[in-house]
Amino acid sequence: MDDGKPVWAPHPTDGFQLGMIVDIGADALTIEPLNQKGKTFLAPMSQVFPAEDDVNKHVDDNCSLMYLNEATLLNNVRVRYNKDHIYTYVANILIAVNPYYDIPKLYGPDAIKSYQGKSLGTLPPHVFAIADKAYRDMKVLKMSQSIIVSGESGAGKTENTKFVLRYLTTTYGSGQDIDERIVEANPLLEAFGNAKTVRNNNSSRFGKFVEIHFNAKNAVVGGFVSHYLLEKSRICMQSNDERNYHIFYRLCAGASEDLKKKLHLDSPDSFRYLNRGCTRYFASKDSDKQIMQNRKSPEHIKTGALKDPLLDDQGDFNRMCVAMKKIGLNDTEKLDLFRVVAGVLHLGNIDFEETGSSSGLHWLVPLKVEQANNARDALAKAVYSRLFDHVVKRVNQCFPFEISSNFIGVLDIAGFEYFEHNSFEQFCINYCNEKLQQFFNERILKEEQELYQKEGLGVNEVHYVDNQDCIDLVEAKLVGILDILDEENRLPQPSDQHFALAVHSKHKDHFRLTVPRKSKLAVHRNLRDDEGFIIRHFAGAVCYETTRFVEKNNDALHMSLESLVCESKDKFVRELFENSNTSKDTKQKAGKLSFISVGNKFKTQLNLLLEKLRSTGSSFIRCVKPNLRMVSHQFEGALILSQLQCSGMVSVLDLMQGGFPSRAPFHELYNMYKQYMPAKLTRLNPRLFCKALFKALGLNDNDFKFGLTRVFFRPGKFAEFDQIMKSD
Ligand code: ATP
Ligand code: MG
Repeated sequence: MDDGKPVWAPHPTDGFQLGMIVDIGADALTIEPLNQKGKTFLAPMSQVFPAEDDVNKHVDDNCSLMYLNEATLLNNVRVRYNKDHIYTYVANILIAVNPYYDIPKLYGPDAIKSYQGKSLGTLPPHVFAIADKAYRDMKVLKMSQSIIVSGESGAGKTENTKFVLRYLTTTYGSGQDIDERIVEANPLLEAFGNAKTVRNNNSSRFGKFVEIHFNAKNAVVGGFVSHYLLEKSRICMQSNDERNYHIFYRLCAGASEDLKKKLHLDSPDSFRYLNRGCTRYFASKDSDKQIMQNRKSPEHIKTGALKDPLLDDQGDFNRMCVAMKKIGLNDTEKLDLFRVVAGVLHLGNIDFEETGSSSGLHWLVPLKVEQANNARDALAKAVYSRLFDHVVKRVNQCFPFEISSNFIGVLDIAGFEYFEHNSFEQFCINYCNEKLQQFFNERILKEEQELYQKEGLGVNEVHYVDNQDCIDLVEAKLVGILDILDEENRLPQPSDQHFALAVHSKHKDHFRLTVPRKSKLAVHRNLRDDEGFIIRHFAGAVCYETTRFVEKNNDALHMSLESLVCESKDKFVRELFENSNTSKDTKQKAGKLSFISVGNKFKTQLNLLLEKLRSTGSSFIRCVKPNLRMVSHQFEGALILSQLQCSGMVSVLDLMQGGFPSRAPFHELYNMYKQYMPAKLTRLNPRLFCKALFKALGLNDNDFKFGLTRVFFRPGKFAEFDQIMKSD
């Protein structure tokens, strides 16, 4: 690098900055920033990267750059983002930056039409191009496909997922109801499964895999949605500035007077499950602006209708009702759903009083007020989560299919998470991301290697860090953390502390596991060994606080509550519980100390999902959140860099930098360049034509390799060659 050219060196907020190397130490470089002459700083050797000659240039496919590293990727994505090119390829992987505003025409009918049948790379990078590739691969290879969409909260996974579904149903639909239903199922799923959080006003609090099924003629015949891990804690309690699931507020805001009366609905403010932990707002539109300005001041926390000025609950309620109608829900079914939603709210308003001998709720023994409150909340969570299961099941009945030849599945599931406080939810989602990362490695790296082999390139094996040890740490039989937790749950008096200690004692010298005391962050260093553990994930170390792990791992209701709902006078409520996936057997066996493992259910679901993914062809979309303020035109480099690192993109770049990331079939090169060549050369077959052409240009042998069907180029060399050809 030390050739007098600028380099990319670390920058605390931008991610990287341009500078010159002014001194080389044993393991650090002294850098002088280009825009701060005379000032220098030290940077670790491993964090300084060569820069492209023209840092203002951007490319559709990052692999056509000369230097493939995290700094040039970040810069390319930045230059493109500033020009509203939010999509970028790294080979076949699509990076999608959330623009936080509607880019004109980006997803319009013309755009949809233009991507139809076009190979990847012929048009600017786009989520439609990935959808079309999946479709063409399905058709040509006669094989199901999956599109894995990942990224952190607010990065745009759900929006991109919806674009894929809309593209496929519009372009390759059968022209029947089914096409529209697949798209219209989303408003319903989002009403019940999405909520406003501090990271995203419409955050999906569950994972989903949506399959679009096709017949032998490759037209859409139906769909199927699988869902994962609905966040249950939100039903009874929300953090500051967050809300419960949308449906609660929408129903309160949008129900007709009649319905409100029937369901005894009032303003959200009157319900405990909606007014705890949540910021309250005046309903009046005039005061909205004021509220926005005063968000952080205590004055705006006054009693009033709980309404978020950023969300239009009434309008959303009407839109949801239209969607429900379109997918075929009748009025009775609609009322069933609303009745249970209202029921959950009223349940939350039940208060208990200490009576000296017993409280209102009791089984065996009278309960203390706190225990009765917990039982009430457990019931509310169980009812709502069964209701959500029902919504998904009902949605699936809207697009049934009898025969399916193949499907295209889209996975929209939360990416790797690390917060200041991480609990069971983060533990499960990060375990899931370890599995998906392993799949990503397998696919991207293995496929690359297989291609090199098939083409007879004779390059060395590609190596990467395998994360199987981390996966085993979580899911191995008996000694894995999930099984240790289940064992704890089965004890007569399970405790979170005992569980944490058991994890440490079973994995004393595990490379991936350590005690909180060893954390880099002060907040964790104060935690005792029995209060948590740190796992070294592929994307970084995360400290999990184990308080309430035992409780969160248990999906079973206490027997007395279970019988309460099973004997409900409301047929719909009874059915919600009858149809739940816990068989009578399990319940009976579990008895009063009932336990149904959340962790192991997720493990089973996840393994089925991965089995499915492995049997399909795959594409990856990595979504990126550009800033924390959720605004347009603001690129926070360091924040984006860490997302690129967490998504495994950096190891892909390493692989590509050491390999041959650009490739072109002989016949394509022949067609592209024959116009520039003398007639004598064009009589050769495409392979010989290319050989003769490269020789004539005096290209360096190290820059390319001839395979059986195509030429492979070292990073940046194809672009260089193309430039020579076009300038001559
Ligand atoms: P979560 O994990 O919280 O569910 P997510 O990754 O699914 O987050 P989205 O809900 O898809 O995030 O996106 C958040 C918001 O960003 C959207 O509500 C929308 O306002 C905006 N957004 C995302 N992608 C786009 C896009 N391509 N064009 C315009 N706006 C977008
Ligand atoms: Mg989402």
